Amino acid sequence: MPIIEAKGLRKRYGSFEALKGIDFEVQEGKVVALVGPNGAGKTTTLKILSGFLRPTEGKVSIMGKDPWSHPELKKDVAYILDRPNFPPHVKVKDFLREAALMVGEAPDVGEEYLKALGLQEYAQSSFSKLSAGNMQKFAIAVALLRRPKLVVADEPSSNLDPGARAQLYDLIIKLRKENGTTFFISSHVLTEMEKVADEVIIMAEGQIKAQAPLGQLASSLSGSSFRITTDKPELLAEALKGQVVEGKVVIGEQSASLSTIDEAAKRVGARIISVERVGSSLDEIFKKLVGEE
Ligand code: ATP
Repeated sequence: MPIIEAKGLRKRYGSFEALKGIDFEVQEGKVVALVGPNGAGKTTTLKILSGFLRPTEGKVSIMGKDPWSHPELKKDVAYILDRPNFPPHVKVKDFLREAALMVGEAPDVGEEYLKALGLQEYAQSSFSKLSAGNMQKFAIAVALLRRPKLVVADEPSSNLDPGARAQLYDLIIKLRKENGTTFFISSHVLTEMEKVADEVIIMAEGQIKAQAPLGQLASSLSGSSFRITTDKPELLAEALKGQVVEGKVVIGEQSASLSTIDEAAKRVGARIISVERVGSSLDEIFKKLVGEE
């Protein structure tokens, strides 16, 4: 059974439809990224999964339960949604110990997360000394204290610098591997998710544009082309209805295959020196899917 299941999910704010009937599943133990531009409907989706918002239509279940009517799900699911806010004059370490005790864990259990996220030097500081990025990292450490089965996080890396992002992704990979924790995380940037996600769901304007393992997304949607090095580029380009770019013949994959390239080369007496298949970058795929220039 998938750990998250959404079917025909719609959300209207007044007359505006933010989610236009979306379906998706997340399998246990996977890191799945929900990626889309501003206003795509990511936060709305995550709030519904968290039981903070009720869908206008459709169904969502987490571990087989509707999050709206089963608040006890919060024991096993960590939600990291809003920008964090901690009491400014309390020490990081003291807060973490209390938070661990509240969820029935050993008081020092949070220290490993502080370390993994590079926060150990702030353990004795008060929250007023923490930057927005470090507050964000601390919120993640607190959410992980009770060893959740599922973590739902809205752009958890948005305030973090590249080093801190890498630490966060390393921690996600470690928890997934060691504890089988499932992560459902949103982001604006598809290429960023390459480092951490098994699968991506691409959303735009309240609709899902694609859901696939990252590798498959690249190969199935890349619209690859061939770049051919030859001694007679102009002739071969004409035979294959391609173009000469920087001395090489470039053709779309739809218009030719390796055997048609070979045949055309023989026909016009061109010698093929090399044939490269060139795929679009993840960034290009993303722009194409969400309709950005
Ligand atoms: P971002 O990356 O900017 O956070 P998002 O993908 O998380 O965007 P949502 O916050 O889910 O998108 O918003 C989806 C759409 O719904 C947007 O057009 C937004 O303006 C609209 N919206 C969100 N919340 C409300 C609300 N409470 N009332 C009216 N419209 C809303």
